[in-house]
Amino acid sequence: MQLDLLRIARPLIVPAAIIIGTALTLAAVPALPRSLATIFPALPWLALVTGTGLSVLFNRGRAFIAFVSLLAAYAGIEFSASLGPQGFPERAVYTAITLLVPANILFALVYAERGVYQHRNYRWWLIAAAEIVVVAWVASAGRNPLSGTVWQSLLEHWLLSSPPIPLAGRILIAAAFVAAVWRAWPVPPANTPRPLDVGMASLVASFFIACEWYGTPGAFSAFITTSGILLLVALTQESHRLAFYDELTSLPGRRALEERLPGLGPVCAMAMIDVDHFKKFNDTHGHAIGDQVLKLVAARLALVTGGGIAYRYGGEEFAVLFPGRSLDDALRALEELRASIEGYGMKIRSDDRPRDSQSGSLRRTDVNGNAVRADSAPSAYKVLGVTVSIGVAERDAALNPSQVLRAADQALYRAKSAGRNRVSR
Ligand code: GH3
Ligand code: MG
Ligand code: MG
Repeated sequence: MQLDLLRIARPLIVPAAIIIGTALTLAAVPALPRSLATIFPALPWLALVTGTGLSVLFNRGRAFIAFVSLLAAYAGIEFSASLGPQGFPERAVYTAITLLVPANILFALVYAERGVYQHRNYRWWLIAAAEIVVVAWVASAGRNPLSGTVWQSLLEHWLLSSPPIPLAGRILIAAAFVAAVWRAWPVPPANTPRPLDVGMASLVASFFIACEWYGTPGAFSAFITTSGILLLVALTQESHRLAFYDELTSLPGRRALEERLPGLGPVCAMAMIDVDHFKKFNDTHGHAIGDQVLKLVAARLALVTGGGIAYRYGGEEFAVLFPGRSLDDALRALEELRASIEGYGMKIRSDDRPRDSQSGSLRRTDVNGNAVRADSAPSAYKVLGVTVSIGVAERDAALNPSQVLRAADQALYRAKSAGRNRVSR
């Protein structure tokens, strides 16, 4: 796995800027105009309610659980503090939220994303209701005949004693953070974390700051707001990613290509790339393996040299833009790309190994009917040969970018009829 520093650092820039911005704003509060200070109390509610609504709208289950947990935590703190500052209810609620918010997030991260409307989601509601009832009961210790006083001594236990965050809370927050980083860890072909996963990790970090500096005036509500904003921004970034990036290959999609075309300068080259005999590939090995081949081809395309940017145009067709590059530059890079795909034995996971000898013999041949090196690969894999045909065109004064792309497509047809596995202009 290739993990260069910039690739890891880039997704962290926005969350880091938001967290630093919050700290600076908090430090500057005394100097801020009073009118501005009056809107601060509304911000946590605004961020968390908006976030809850958006996660329902976008059907993001994990984000929903995080927003509802933060909303309940903030409401609990506000209410318990209103009963008398620094009293037992506030301490009980504080202890509870340092445990329950990370625990909920941890559970949400461990389970697969199933959306807000997931099957049997009433379980989550039961858990949420149980959490609220138990916390309310504990916090009311000594206030009515139904609640015992055992809780008062329980909060002195070394695992639960606060402030700041009790040890049990620290462990849960650390576990939630590790789970978020695990989810966010970049894997091929994208090699870059999903914004929502990064948002979850930064939310946990911001929640930790909120609770750890609970005693600093304004810090709790400021960083709870920030936790909400971090996830809101991540939801927005995620929507952009979904719209502009292809899910299967993680390459930018056709929408991204269309958006880029009008902004291209007078010097540029473009290529259209099509996988050879891909239909036969699908027919022989099935769609799942066809998809794996597309992913592997895309992974090669993403590494194209000469300043090329690869897009998934649709199906088994790709486009590569070379902004500011001449036809010769592009030809060099594309020939290198074509050769690298031809020479690259695609190692395909074969979970569905053939059951009978007839399909077995089918699977040991490539799309052209030639034997493939399947036998030399470990039995769970097979190695297939894939080739691509490429058409390339250059911009000249008479052509607008869409016409250049069409010219590249015509060149692609020439590459196909000339025998495939070649670059034509
Ligand atoms: P040629 O060398 O002339 O390009 O032959 P071909 O078979 O590749 O060309 P054709 O355009 O006839 O076939 C493309 C096939 O690609 C049709 C469809 O089954 C398959 N395909 C398109 N999109 C996907 C996809 O996302 N996944 C999979 N597995 N197959 C796809
Ligand atoms: Mg095609
Ligand atoms: Mg094809």
